[in-house]
Amino acid sequence: MSEKPAAHSPNQTEIADLVTHYTCTRNCYGRKGNAGACCTVADRDFIIGPIVDTKEFLKRLNERDGRKRTYAEVFIEFSEGSKLFPDKSTWQNRDYYPALRVEMDAEAVHPCRFLSEARECTVYAIRPGICRTYQCDHLKATLNNL
Ligand code: SF4
Repeated sequence: MSEKPAAHSPNQTEIADLVTHYTCTRNCYGRKGNAGACCTVADRDFIIGPIVDTKEFLKRLNERDGRKRTYAEVFIEFSEGSKLFPDKSTWQNRDYYPALRVEMDAEAVHPCRFLSEARECTVYAIRPGICRTYQCDHLKATLNNL
């Protein structure tokens, strides 16, 4: 008779990763079913930047997709971004650039161009550093309660 494998007991880091994944994909900002709000601008004074690893991210993206994207396809610089959202102070602050390019959609959700319609990151494994480390207030509070 074969023995059952020992159950894996997740450590603190693994638990935090699971809670982060659950929160961001199913309970974003404490709203059931909500996902990836920090991958959109919507009506908030919010920008996805500064991206400090533009070269590295572009390289990973080009290698993954087997085609060369231009810098402007992926990032927005101050000269353009400040005009896209004149009423948002974050977009008027040079310190937050370069930003990830967002779609200027009719619904004014303004998703990152890498967010799918199902609200999933299409570059998750190779995403920029800021996307790996950013924690909104809700996520910080959730992780602090673990
Ligand atoms: S690259 Fe992915 S994680 Fe980062 S903002 Fe865009 S969709 Fe979100």
